[in-house]
Amino acid sequence: MSDYFEEMSRTPLRDGEAPNSMLHMARFLRDSGMWDLLWPDAKLPPPASKDAVENLSEIKIESTESKQCPVCLKEFEVDDKAKLMPCQHVFHQECIIPWLQKTNSCPLCRYELPTDDEDYEMYRKEKKRAVERERDLETLHNSMFS
Ligand SMILES: [Zn+2]
Ligand SMILES: [Zn+2]
Repeated sequence: MSDYFEEMSRTPLRDGEAPNSMLHMARFLRDSGMWDLLWPDAKLPPPASKDAVENLSEIKIESTESKQCPVCLKEFEVDDKAKLMPCQHVFHQECIIPWLQKTNSCPLCRYELPTDDEDYEMYRKEKKRAVERERDLETLHNSMFS
């Protein structure tokens, strides 16, 4: 058996064949469905990027009408400072910041902020592309058969 592996490692690369193992790995993972094993939906995505958290807009609560913080379930009080997520959901600053340091998505609607995790960002791009591809196919299908 050891002969076999020695033989393999001695095989020279052909012209133009660069050992781009990361790309190979990514393709392999995608084609084999391993992405979903690595990041099953049940697993929390990585933390939101520092920039994304720092750039959340801060608002002042002006009326407490039917508004409570979805994290601690306490009602907002007038003049409370709160953070507004891009999805328009509002949270206490002290509630959402620790949350976003654990995972990048809105606790209410799972809207995702950017992360600093390259692997995850790559995964997210792939996933988005897959969804778009499916949508294209559906559109094509509908235009042909309706
Ligand atoms: Zn809160
Ligand atoms: Zn939201």
